[in-house]
Amino acid sequence: MADIIIAGAGPAGLSAAIYARRAGMDTVVYEGNVYGGQIINTPEVENYPAIAKISGFDFANDLYNQATNLGARVEFDGVTSVSGTAEEGFTVELASGGKETAKAVILAVGATNRHLGIDREEELTGKGVSYCATCDGAFYKGKTVAVNGGGNTAVEDAIYLAGLVEKVYLIHRRNEFRADETLVKAAKVLPNLEMVTPFVIKELKGSPKLDGIVLENRDDQSTKELAVDGLFVAIGQEPKTAIFKDLVTLSGGYIEGGEDCKTNVKGIFVAGDVRTKKVRQLTTACADGAVAALAAVDFIKLG
Ligand code: NAP
Repeated sequence: MADIIIAGAGPAGLSAAIYARRAGMDTVVYEGNVYGGQIINTPEVENYPAIAKISGFDFANDLYNQATNLGARVEFDGVTSVSGTAEEGFTVELASGGKETAKAVILAVGATNRHLGIDREEELTGKGVSYCATCDGAFYKGKTVAVNGGGNTAVEDAIYLAGLVEKVYLIHRRNEFRADETLVKAAKVLPNLEMVTPFVIKELKGSPKLDGIVLENRDDQSTKELAVDGLFVAIGQEPKTAIFKDLVTLSGGYIEGGEDCKTNVKGIFVAGDVRTKKVRQLTTACADGAVAALAAVDFIKLG
């Protein structure tokens, strides 16, 4: 039986692994996708204290290497269920069909990209519709693209793409942006970036590839069409908690947990974007990882 199993190798999960290993715990991290979580798709991280600028990719690599060099075992296998009790230990079932037991579990599975939920979105994904500007931006050199969203991700993506493509439309459903003021200011001065507000995307055009989008004005319901080669959807995330709904208490889809990162089940902890909280940032994800790991260590040692 391992001491601690961590579900998710994003910033929260890998930070938890670092703290768990430094406390001498036998620690296993299970990840169904790639390590690094959402930060791997962020072109530049400029708000992590004492690191003025680093790419999300480099940040994820450094974090992964730090955790594994300390002796954390990272397995690329998705967690499909968790069961058990604090008294008898927990069993984690895996996508491969395997299972592993541990004294404590930390849920750090993060969130996935929210979809627009409009017709043909799935059909055109990979054929003009993308959820990752850093992954797919290079395909659109010299072309026209749109980014949808008003948060930090959308504005960062739009700025990044403006450096690559001919023209970027940044479409947002309100006139005010949720993104940090510094980012919005940086976007506004770019000559090939046009803000289109308050609009939502109603229709995707083109076959077999996207070649346009139909927008609806949220104030007067008028519509207009933009010719675009690519659409980057950056309208937030949804927590990956469906498999945990019978295990721990959820609130609005997120796993309920306070600043102590404890769930309602003794021995199960929660860290990162999947936890109920106000501020979902890289710094707070890493902080959660530390808190959850030390809480798990206390639980294992003291009960
Ligand atoms: P977010 O902050 O939740 O923003 C989502 C945006 O999408 C909002 O502007 C929202 O509009 C819009 N939206 C949501 N559902 C929509 C729909 N169905 N149709 C159209 N628009 C929709 O998400 P995020 O930008 O991905 O950021 C997630 C978290 O990561 C945030 O805490 C963010 O600060 C953080 N982050 C930080 C950095 C950084 O600091 N460098 C970079 C990336 C992300 P409304 O504003 O009208 O609700």
